[in-house]
Amino acid sequence: MQENVSLKEYTTMKTGGSARYFFCAKSIDEVREAAAFANERAVPLFVLGGGSNVIISDDGWNGVVLRMEIPGIAFEDVDADTVRVVAGAGVQWDALVRATVGKSLYGIENLSGIPGTVGAAPVQNIGAYGVEAGESIAWVEVFDMEKDENCRMGKDECLFGYRESFFKTPQGRKMIITRVAFDLKKNGALKTDYKDIGEYFSRTQKEATLSSLREAIIEIRASKLPDHGNMGTAGSFFKNPVISESEALQLKRSYPDVVVFPANNGLAKVSAAWLLDHIGQWRGVCRGDACVYERHALVLVNKGNATTGEILALADEMAQMVKTKTGIVLEREVQIVA
Ligand code: NAP
Repeated sequence: MQENVSLKEYTTMKTGGSARYFFCAKSIDEVREAAAFANERAVPLFVLGGGSNVIISDDGWNGVVLRMEIPGIAFEDVDADTVRVVAGAGVQWDALVRATVGKSLYGIENLSGIPGTVGAAPVQNIGAYGVEAGESIAWVEVFDMEKDENCRMGKDECLFGYRESFFKTPQGRKMIITRVAFDLKKNGALKTDYKDIGEYFSRTQKEATLSSLREAIIEIRASKLPDHGNMGTAGSFFKNPVISESEALQLKRSYPDVVVFPANNGLAKVSAAWLLDHIGQWRGVCRGDACVYERHALVLVNKGNATTGEILALADEMAQMVKTKTGIVLEREVQIVA
């Protein structure tokens, strides 16, 4: 256990204050130890994975930060076509995708190149290019801080939704994810219907296979998203808003070119990036070192010494403009730790 550890270097946005207490956990016993420590001192505990989707308050975290480092990836045949892959919550997400594609398993290849850890994937049910992690998850192993015990939650108990899950609810926040199991297929179908992917394969004339699709996605992401080795970023800052069909029709009347996709239950999903690009021309706008990335309006970046306060003020300004002009509320995808 360390005290007063700056969290800047533990998040990809590279802003924010310090953790009062800081633990690294490589096993469930070490998770239990950190939870007991927080319990004894009656301070809150926050689990940090890769720090790629969180922004820490400038005032820091007056409690325990538990950095999840449980390792390991294991493969086990379930039936003729299904392999169960169990990964420790501290494994880098993309290392897991690379390993599964390397074994010719289908299911999570479209999630190539997403930063962060395996343990963070179920929390916001990470999704990209028409695939969500929750679709392949068989179970999630958690340490229940309230009951002081380890248990497994089946897929249905995880309540996966669009960038949502049980783990974002107040009850779910009492669970520390320690391992995740995925059921992947030996013979699957590739999902290549997103425009960027289709364009990649027609431009390169490559055959779409598990490994070429992974390469395509990594290349597309690198061309649009900042490398957090060079610039502070937390990826997409806002979710795509989901609105009713009548609200979508009204939006189309004001903005005929707006990009809208059908969503579940007859709803409509609006491209948040389109709204920010066309309603406010936000790309490249800076307030000090807090900026909107030049190549993607949904991505906020820290160009040096931005504070969390400055990043959040810029995000609020963007969301307020969209709300004033369209009535649509942009929800943050990034988790704020305060
Ligand atoms: P994009 O390809 O420029 O598309 C913009 C938005 O339109 C996306 O957010 C996507 O929604 C939606 N979209 C595009 N084609 C679609 C289709 N055929 N059917 C339904 N919806 C469609 O997106 P981008 O910003 O470069 O991001 C690429 C992918 O990475 C997207 O899927 C995005 O969601 C994902 N991503 C996820 C995270 C995360 O989970 N934290 C962070 C960054 C990016 P969806 O968002 O529903 O896919």
